[in-house]
Amino acid sequence: MPSNEIITPDSPQLGELCAQLNELAKFLPTAQDWPHEQLQICARMGVFRWFVAQEDGGYGWSPEDVVRGYLELSAACLTTTFIITQRTGACRRIASSDNNGLKRMLLPDLLTGETFATVGISHLTTSRQHLGKPALLATEVEDGYVLDGMSPWVTGAKSADTLVVGAAMEDGRQLLMAIPARGIGIEIGEPAELVALSASQTGPVSFDQAFCPAEWVLSGPSENVMKKGKGANTGGLETSTLAVGLSTAAYRYLVEQQVKRSEFAQPTQHFEVELEQLKQDLLAAAGGDPECDPLQIRSRANSLVLRITQAALSSAKGAGYIEGHPVGRWCREALFFLVWSCPSNVLSANLCELARIEG
Ligand SMILES: Cc1cc2nc3c(=O)[nH]c(=O)nc-3n(C[C@H](O)[C@H](O)[C@H](O)COP(=O)(O)OP(=O)(O)OC[C@H]3O[C@@H](n4cnc5c(N)ncnc54)[C@H](O)[C@@H]3O)c2cc1C
Repeated sequence: MPSNEIITPDSPQLGELCAQLNELAKFLPTAQDWPHEQLQICARMGVFRWFVAQEDGGYGWSPEDVVRGYLELSAACLTTTFIITQRTGACRRIASSDNNGLKRMLLPDLLTGETFATVGISHLTTSRQHLGKPALLATEVEDGYVLDGMSPWVTGAKSADTLVVGAAMEDGRQLLMAIPARGIGIEIGEPAELVALSASQTGPVSFDQAFCPAEWVLSGPSENVMKKGKGANTGGLETSTLAVGLSTAAYRYLVEQQVKRSEFAQPTQHFEVELEQLKQDLLAAAGGDPECDPLQIRSRANSLVLRITQAALSSAKGAGYIEGHPVGRWCREALFFLVWSCPSNVLSANLCELARIEG
């Protein structure tokens, strides 16, 4: 780990990295695209080590520095940054597991970027909860488990070497496993064309009598396996941070415009105050300040990202409505925060905010 390659949240290299990501962001319009080059640059610059503790081979950035880093990355390219969150979710679940054999086997190559892992866990938390039966069923057999069913949303599954997937047993207990993404009765479905972020190559992964030896278990079987360990939690600060990062991109655009058009000055100043306050509260919440409620921050971040991206579109006028202009993409990307990692309290807060009623 040569020290001259280590980026800190304040170092100029972070700005240089983000400038490259920003430049490449326009080349990711469809589900046939994948930010391979962007992820390679991030790997080279040590980004994948930010999120993992030093004793596990990472840089062990503080939660506040992780927020600072994610804010800049997501202002540059939301698709790449979102993929990094899913990758990080998998890495953190592996790093925080008691399964030292898997940790030793998987983490080193994940941290260098040699390999890619992602998560398929939302069917334990925010997806398919109303159906009353497990989307992915785990049945205990000799020496392991057999998985049947599907993980409906898996970002980057086609590029993954390892999938960190959640499954539920008939008795309601849940398991988290790190499994190889090929062979063993797994079928990776075609990624969906989405309203935005199509190049995250998100799609279903199906399991047909897939045998997983007990050595692949990261956690469980137990109740609420997602509540244990760290990484990829729902409705958390990570989601809000990316919404604030995208808001920052739209804010910077408004600032550029107001130089030429003084009528934008007042609304832009209002947005600046709101954005700065939200960033301070995000950082305080990341630092553990109990006064800063993550749900309230999520709700404010969702509200801001929808309004400020649309303000940027208004300022760009018809030119911004033409396919390929960044403000149109930002408006579509902002809608993602209405559906990504929304447990019922976040969903209710979204609907109340849109209906302009007190939640
Ligand atoms: C681009 C993208 C990338 C993602 N990447 C990942 C990933 O990498 N890993 C991961 O684990 N997850 C991922 N997710 C999943 C995400 O975090 C949420 O879990 C997901 O968006 C929830 O949507 P759903 O349609 O599955 O929800 P569901 O709740 O299953 O809803 C499905 C349908 O059922 C309806 N419905 C819901 N509840 C009820 C009810 N009570 N009665 C009647 N109808 C109901 C809904 O209105 C909806 O039309 C991703 C999602 C997106 C959009």
